[in-house]
Amino acid sequence: MRTITLIVVHCSAVRPDQTSSAAQIDTWHRRQGWKLGIGYHYVVRRDGQIETGRPEWLVGAHCQNHNSHSIGVCYEGGLDIRGQPADTRTEAQKEALRRLLKALKERYRRALIVGHRDLNPLKACPCFDAVKEYSQLTAIKNGRPENSEERGKGRCSLIG
Ligand SMILES: [Zn+2]
Repeated sequence: MRTITLIVVHCSAVRPDQTSSAAQIDTWHRRQGWKLGIGYHYVVRRDGQIETGRPEWLVGAHCQNHNSHSIGVCYEGGLDIRGQPADTRTEAQKEALRRLLKALKERYRRALIVGHRDLNPLKACPCFDAVKEYSQLTAIKNGRPENSEERGKGRCSLIG
């Protein structure tokens, strides 16, 4: 069993006119010479579909110096049409990411949810503040995660 202390959120760094399914990323990473293929454990597509990459028990390849003790989650997007870093998550992706991270957080209660850029300041990935956005998923009250889904819903409706 690996000890998981970090859940690292990434973007796949593709423009809105490009796709990045788990299968595509697997091909890209194999071309880079990674024999185990896709470096992420999960890929969240624009339509909110969650695709699996490496099994959770297997060490990923997504964040230098942190792979052995982390799970890598990647959303499809992260660049605007000009190829500049941007938070391009769709509503479906935001919902799916929250659901996936909540499930992971329940499995790995002591793990922190962070963005790639929080561990490597040279990266813009995942192009939003994952620590801030998912801090409520990190909170554990009386040894149990808080009911963050309801709180999340309330916040979303305020934003519109
Ligand atoms: Zn990344």
